[in-house]
Amino acid sequence: MMRIQGEFLGGGHEVGRLGIYLKCDRTRLLFDYGMTATAPPLYPRESPPVDRMFLTHSHLDHCGMIPWLTARYDIDVVTTPMSREIGLLLMEDSIKVGQSEGYPEPYNIDDVKIASKRFREIKFGGTSDADGLQVKAHSAGHIPGATMYELGGSSTTLVTGDIHTIDTRLVNGAKPVRCDNLIMESTYSGRNHEDRAKTEYRLLKKVEEVHERGGKAIIPAFAVGRTQELLLLLKDMKRDFWLDGMGRKVSKAYLSMPEYVRSGKRLRQAVNRTKMVKSRHGRARAARSDTIVTTSGMLDGGPVIDYLDNLKDDPRSAILLTGYQVEGSNGRRLLNDGVIDVQGATVKVNCEVAQFDFSAHAGHDQLLEFARGCAPEKIVLCHGDNREVLAEDLRRDGFEVLLPLNGEKFEL
Ligand SMILES: [Zn+2]
Ligand SMILES: [Zn+2]
Repeated sequence: MMRIQGEFLGGGHEVGRLGIYLKCDRTRLLFDYGMTATAPPLYPRESPPVDRMFLTHSHLDHCGMIPWLTARYDIDVVTTPMSREIGLLLMEDSIKVGQSEGYPEPYNIDDVKIASKRFREIKFGGTSDADGLQVKAHSAGHIPGATMYELGGSSTTLVTGDIHTIDTRLVNGAKPVRCDNLIMESTYSGRNHEDRAKTEYRLLKKVEEVHERGGKAIIPAFAVGRTQELLLLLKDMKRDFWLDGMGRKVSKAYLSMPEYVRSGKRLRQAVNRTKMVKSRHGRARAARSDTIVTTSGMLDGGPVIDYLDNLKDDPRSAILLTGYQVEGSNGRRLLNDGVIDVQGATVKVNCEVAQFDFSAHAGHDQLLEFARGCAPEKIVLCHGDNREVLAEDLRRDGFEVLLPLNGEKFEL
């Protein structure tokens, strides 16, 4: 029986900065190594030396610390070509953002260059051999290219990364994988989502309503995944819509690897229908239009701030948030207090504010169902700040559930 000793370097009892260290007999593996992009940023514990790293997907809380790792250890980073491409975009961007905000950077652009040479490709259904230990890749349904890893051997262990189990317009949902041990995210422990079709309908209705009363709709969205799902939704609208910010580059990357999206053809149609902001002149035109999708999704910087600053006193206009707004983000301040921070000044927002749940994570019941389908003996929950609720339901089903804190060792 293979003996696995594990430890969360971060992201155990919290959403963000994930790092899962697993020592499988003698082979030392690291799954994800990310940072929480708050102000100031939060980093995981320093990783001990490892033999290989596996990246589940390219959100900063999973990939943001890879350059730190590859600058110290001479190791390969296994991931899908899609996650590599998007990850490098994000790492370069995080250096730019970090410089403008004045926080000390854990790595520089040369470290990103080193990291870019360390990536090794894996495809869904393919395996990677880590010192005789077979690791197989499965689609995680979270964003295009997101992967779950199945460690083989006398007992099998599935590391989910972030997962969603429903088919969205952008990606198909994850399917359970039979395993002995399941290391699963639990972001939405205790919470369920509204039916996606209903959320889509409500958003489109609201955009229409805003237009009819003569206002503009600003739709803040994460550049990676959310933006493209929204373009797929807006593409059948009669009116023009604009896209500004990093979502453009990500859309391009998605189009270059259509095998990772649900329908490359439909995404191309959506992107072709989208008016892209490529210059200051374009931004001025977008500001005069009536629908703008832009970054950042939680209003912490990005072009969205300028658009918002222009419209904040127009009660006919609306800000339509499309994701969860974490504690401490500008978006959360807007929801709670009706204000945002614009370059250090607190600014009152008088236009309509609404929120729509386009989450890329499985909800509570979906996580339960997924775990049942995997039928493991042991389940380790991570990537959640409210894990106990889900743990309770899983234990009632007869599973053994572990809830290690960051830095606490566990055995499988
Ligand atoms: Zn993610
Ligand atoms: Zn995550």
